[in-house]
Amino acid sequence: MESQHSPRGFAPATTAEPIAPRRNRRDRLALQPADFVAPRFADVADQRLATALTAEDRSEEDGLDPLERVTCRTHRRWLHDCVSSPLHVVIVTGTRWCRKCECALNVAIDQPAGDVAVRCPSFDETPATRATRQLVRACRAGLAIASDR
Ligand SMILES: [Zn+2]
Ligand SMILES: [Zn+2]
Repeated sequence: MESQHSPRGFAPATTAEPIAPRRNRRDRLALQPADFVAPRFADVADQRLATALTAEDRSEEDGLDPLERVTCRTHRRWLHDCVSSPLHVVIVTGTRWCRKCECALNVAIDQPAGDVAVRCPSFDETPATRATRQLVRACRAGLAIASDR
């Protein structure tokens, strides 16, 4: 397999040996087609979601910020479908968290409009933070992908 090269272009090719059963997940998944669905998502009914979950799991291994994901590994759903879960409050990063009054932020998803509103229940304001902008961006991106038919 002399023609193989790194998908990202960095790191010298060290894949001189033939296809051996390596346990390195990144190498294994790199051989999969774009619409590949990982076994753990095989029972996810929405094919587009299953594909996106698989791709983002792989991207996370390659350095994607988990908070940039549009799918949720834990709930196996689109982020906008489970972002209201308490598990999506990350205090240390300020994600869905108001640092001013130390409470969880509410997220309102407008599916038809593809819009996302994040507000503090105490101040009824959207915190102007990087973490909030990131959350809104990820939810909007997921809405766009999920509704693109
Ligand atoms: Zn979730
Ligand atoms: Zn607040």
